[in-house]
This record gives sequence, structure tokens and C-alpha cells, in this order.
Amino acid sequence: MIMELPNKFRMRYAEVINGELLIYENVRFEDLMYELTYATKNHRCYYCDKKLRKETRTIDHAYPRDAGGISIVNNLFPSCSPCNSEKGNLTRDEYFHFLKLRPKEQKQYRKEVLENRNYIFHERGFVLPKKWFTMVDVWSIDYQLASTELRGKRYHRILEFHNKYHRLPRPVILDKNMRLLDGYNCVLFARDHCLPEIPAIILENVSLI
Ligand SMILES: [Zn+2]
Repeated sequence: MIMELPNKFRMRYAEVINGELLIYENVRFEDLMYELTYATKNHRCYYCDKKLRKETRTIDHAYPRDAGGISIVNNLFPSCSPCNSEKGNLTRDEYFHFLKLRPKEQKQYRKEVLENRNYIFHERGFVLPKKWFTMVDVWSIDYQLASTELRGKRYHRILEFHNKYHRLPRPVILDKNMRLLDGYNCVLFARDHCLPEIPAIILENVSLI
């Protein structure tokens, strides 16, 4: 998929040139995505349109983290803190629907949505548009083992999720050359458990240099 990018972006560790994001250093991917989101999108809350101040602005995941919502610009929207916390783990579309309901119906609606998530987790592991991701051969992913190879908390959350649903909780994120940008623990988990293919989002306009 093509990631939304600002026309101009230049940092020590990454820059946008001719519509392509070049990443030069091993920067924390999510931090870079937040910087890019603020540079790409306007400075109003996506949900209530209130003007955002730098000190109090937050970033919302349109597809929430709990449902596999990865941190890439297309999934990130500046928002005020009250909207962000009220939205919680609803998706953007679910939240817009929620806002039209009366308070009593809202509670019920949120409950139903979250119950329905279990079915989706069993079926495909996460809630993201199908056109965003593709299945890739684990061994075709180019990545470097961390110097201290950790199988820590994140790894164990994947393990628990996989034990329960037999799926991975989110896709990994790759650049156009199949180099790993985010999802180290998922790759590690897949290799440990001999999963031949895993879901991945391939960002066609991003290169790790
Ligand atoms: Zn708001």
C-alpha cells in the first residue's frame, strides 16, 4: 500500500524525497509515524474539529491498537484527548455511529461491538481493511536480530493471542524491499512456531536505507 506522506519532511533520521520516505537510521518506527502524522494532517481534532494545542494533542488509531491497528500515517489521526478516550477501542466508523446514538444505546452498542471482535479475531486476527495487507513468506522478510534477543512481554502477548485465536494479532510492516520496519516480535514468533506465512503491510513508498 501507499503510505500518506507530507510533501516536505526532513529530519536527521528520515526525509521525504519525490513522494518517497527514506529512513536512514534505526529510529523507533512509531515515533517517526507520529511525527509524519502531525506533518501530514491538520491540527484539528479529527472527530470534533476542535483546534489542537501542541501540549494537549493526542494521536488516535482509527483502527484501534486492540484490534490490530498498526501505527502508520493512514491509520493515525490527531485528536483531542476527550474524543480519543471516549472512542476507546472502537474503530473510526464505529465511533461515528456511536456518536449518533442516545447514551443508553451507546453503552449497548459498545458492548456488542466488542463481543463481535472475538469472531473477527478467530476469523482473521485483526480488524483492518483487506486491501491493506497481504500474506508473505516469513523467510523472505529481511531483518536483523536484535543484539539482545528478547522474548519479553510483547512476545508473550502474541503467544497468548495465538493460543486463543490461532492467528497473529496484527500484520508486520515492511518497506518496499521487504525490510522489516515494525513487528519484530511477530516475526520472531512466526519463526519459532514454524508459521510459513504471516500477514504484512508492504509500504511501497518507503525505503529503509
Ligand atoms: Zn475532539
